Formats: sequence, C-alpha cells, structure tokens
Amino acid sequence: MLPNIFHNGRQLSRIFQCTLQMYRQRSLTTGVNEIPLSKDHYNIKRGPFSVATDADIKHFESILPAGNQILLGLEETVGYNRDYFKYVRGLGAIVLKPRTSEEVSNIMRYCNNKRLAVSVFGGNTGVCGGSIPVFDEIILSMDLMNRVESIDKYSGILVCESGCVLGKLEEELAMEGMMMPLDLGAKNSCQIGGNVSTNAGGIRLLRYGSLHGSVLGLEVVLADGTIMDLMSNVKKDNTGYHLKHMFIGSEGTLGVITRVAIACPTATKTQNVLFLGLRDYSSVLRTFLECKACLGEILTSFELIDRDALECCIEHLRTSSPIGSYPFYVLIETTGSSKQHDAEKIRDYLEHVIGHGIVSDGVVTNEPSKITKLWQLRERIPEATYSNNFCLTFDLSLPLKNFYDIVPAMKDRVGHLVKLVCGFGHIGDSNIHLNIAGDELTPEIAELIDPFVYEFTRKLRGSISAEHGIGLLKPKYLKYSKSAESIDLMKQLKLVLDRNGILNPYKVLC
Ligand code: ZN
Repeated sequence: MLPNIFHNGRQLSRIFQCTLQMYRQRSLTTGVNEIPLSKDHYNIKRGPFSVATDADIKHFESILPAGNQILLGLEETVGYNRDYFKYVRGLGAIVLKPRTSEEVSNIMRYCNNKRLAVSVFGGNTGVCGGSIPVFDEIILSMDLMNRVESIDKYSGILVCESGCVLGKLEEELAMEGMMMPLDLGAKNSCQIGGNVSTNAGGIRLLRYGSLHGSVLGLEVVLADGTIMDLMSNVKKDNTGYHLKHMFIGSEGTLGVITRVAIACPTATKTQNVLFLGLRDYSSVLRTFLECKACLGEILTSFELIDRDALECCIEHLRTSSPIGSYPFYVLIETTGSSKQHDAEKIRDYLEHVIGHGIVSDGVVTNEPSKITKLWQLRERIPEATYSNNFCLTFDLSLPLKNFYDIVPAMKDRVGHLVKLVCGFGHIGDSNIHLNIAGDELTPEIAELIDPFVYEFTRKLRGSISAEHGIGLLKPKYLKYSKSAESIDLMKQLKLVLDRNGILNPYKVLC
C-alpha cells in the first residue's frame, strides 16, 4: 500500500476545473473600458440588422410588464457586455429577462419581424466569447427562468428551466439522493441552459458521458418565436430524428433553450483520489489501461499533468508536490457506494501497477480536505500559466497514442523563445490542454504556433475544440475539424432555423 502522505498546501478556493480557453490572457483586474471592443479587435463587420428604437423598447415593456425584467443603457448592462475573463466586449444596451417560454417566444417573434439581432446570456462562464454581444444585439438573459419543475428519483430524471444554476441543481438533487451527471468548477455560476448550449464537458465525463447522452429532452424557442417541444421523460425513444442534438452544443445560434430534461445518476457515497508519478508517457497509457481494468465502474476521472505544468502550478500556489519529481503525474478519482469495496479495488490496482514497475510513486487519500488540495494541483494549472505576460492555450482532442506528441513538437518549435510549454488534461476523455506562456508574444512566436497546432490536430483527425466550443474566438479554425461539406450543411441548417440570422450572430460560423 502506498503511504498516505500529504504536504500542507495553502487552502485556495476552487475557480475553474477546466482549462480556460483564452487566446491571450488579459489580467482579471483589467478595467472594462481597457478591454478592446470585440468588433474592433476581431475586425468584424456589423450584420444587416436594425437598431432598436424607443418604439421597440416600448414593445418589450409590453411583453415584460413585471418589474426588473428590462435593463437599459450601457452603464446598466455593463456586466452583460464582457466575459468573466474580460476578453471580449460588446455594446448591447438592452437586456431582457423573460420569466416564461411564452415571453421568450414573444421577444423572438418581435425581434425576427424587426430584424433585431439577439444574443443569449447565461451564467457568463464561457471561455470563447459565445454569449457576449459583439455590437448592439438585444441581450436575452435567462436568469429569471430558474425553476426546478420535477425530480423523479425512481426514473432518475430532472426537469427544469434553462436558467437554473448547475450548483443549485446539484443541491436539489442531493436531497433526493441523486447528482448531476456533469460537474464543473464554474458550477456556482454557470446555468444548465448554457451547459447544454455549449455541450459542457467537465470532470465526470469519463464516467457519465457527454450531454448528448444525458439530456433526454429540450424545449427550444426558435428565431421566429416557435416553441419547439422536444421534451422527453423517457430514456429510450426511437421515434424519428432526435432534433435535440442539433441544439446541444450549438452555442445559441439555432434556438434559445428554455427547458431541459436530464438523466441524473444516484449520488455516490465514497470518494478517493490517487496522485501518481510516472517516468514516461507509455507508462501513463499502461496506467490508464490497468486503471480501467482494475477500477472499472468506480473510476470517475483520469487526469494528466506533465512536470512543467506541475512545477508552474506549485510555484504559483507556493505549495509543494506530495511526491518526488517525475516527467508525468496522473490524478485518478474514484467514487462508489462501498468504502471497503473501493479500498480493496484501489489496493489491488496499486499493488499491480507498482509491482509491475508501471507507477513509480504516489499517494492516495479519502479525506475531503486532502482531496481538495490534490485536485488543486490539476485545477489551478491554467491560472498559474496565465500569471505570465502572455499565455496561449489550446483545447484539443487527440488519439491517446499521440496525445502528448504535440507538447515536445511545440517545445522544438518555440521552447527557446518562451518560458513555458506544458501539457495537461483529461486522458480519460482524450482531451489535452496545451499552454504556451512567456514574456512577449512576438509575431515570430505566433507564426510558429498557429496554424501548426491546428494542422497537427487535423492530421490526427482530432478536434480543435474538445470542450470549450467555438464561440466568437474560433470560427475561422472550424475548418480544421469539420469538412467543407459539414460546414456547408451547418450553414444550411442555420438558414432553415434562423432565416434572418438574428440569433447569436458572428458566432460559430464565419
Ligand atoms: Zn478541461
């Protein structure tokens, strides 16, 4: 059995468990007006949309007669015009907060008739600028659509409105002995509608799969105001095309998600975290294979951290590693229903991988405070790398055999010009985060990185955005993961569902 040791690190709050997708970091203390307007920064031309008039505002007031449902003027709407990371900025001077699907429908019908563009706003935790207006789009905030409609503990199904905060849903479900199938560091801010719209991944995906599997049904308001009832309370339903999938991950460009039915697992009772050191990447792969074979149904997360990523995180957090220095580390989490059963499985697993020389060193714990500290060594890597003057970050899906190749390849290209090139991420989901950080991002460095990373990913038939989406920041890179025919079909679908292009313009598709 491995020693259950741990060095005391500074207790720090959870911020984000996944890497934050930002092309260039901007300090979180940057003033709002210092953030360049997205339209200028990305050189975007305004679409052929109307400009809202006083008559339009009067009409919105008739649709939303209750108080606190409309905000007017850039001072009032400032929080809706920049992302959490202050990376994109828009000029939307009208925020509408509907309370019902009918109100959303009335707003959309009116905006469609008047050719007013609309940007849908959730918890503002997206990392690709997908929910922030670019020009003067009407901002549709889902904050007030936050009712839990039903929790069926027998079928394991939650039905709620799209503005429900993920963490609140987790609390409601816990009272019924259930849990959400997804978990994000941003769970106390992000909304389930935004999670579905962006097909959020998170740290439970290895165990419970993506939202394409968990979401049983949706209610969506289309651009012309049509309320599409795609709700379903059953897990098996083979009747025709499953239109819900079009809206999952469509980032608000095809419709406004207003209600969600989602399959939720029974809450787990036990939790263990293992933090292991490995001498090379082939040992990481062998450890993962053995992990799946030995831990099976209790495996929840399998995360990779390379030496440079851990050292950067440790320096930033002013903490230390619980084990010696190795080229690679993996963080494994298990959850289950029996403490004894899980402990036996973990013991057998560790004896096997250590006995065969696959794993060099490690610690294991089931104490909540130690679990939190171990997770921080993974969760806070992005924040640590962003403490440099610039940090480029990539969110790639790559086949596991070649998962880590991008890191040494990038070191060869720019390692002598920057301070840090590191790799970490979700081995269990084949999703690596590549971060490159330094003092100054010169054109010479930028040219060595882009489009190399995207071409590298395309050659391996990977994805240039594994879990963060396309939003405003990456439409021009979509072609590296989707064929011209696929993009053309996406554009046709967009036209069918949103003939006037008023829904979340400038996002996802160029
Ligand atoms: Zn991630």
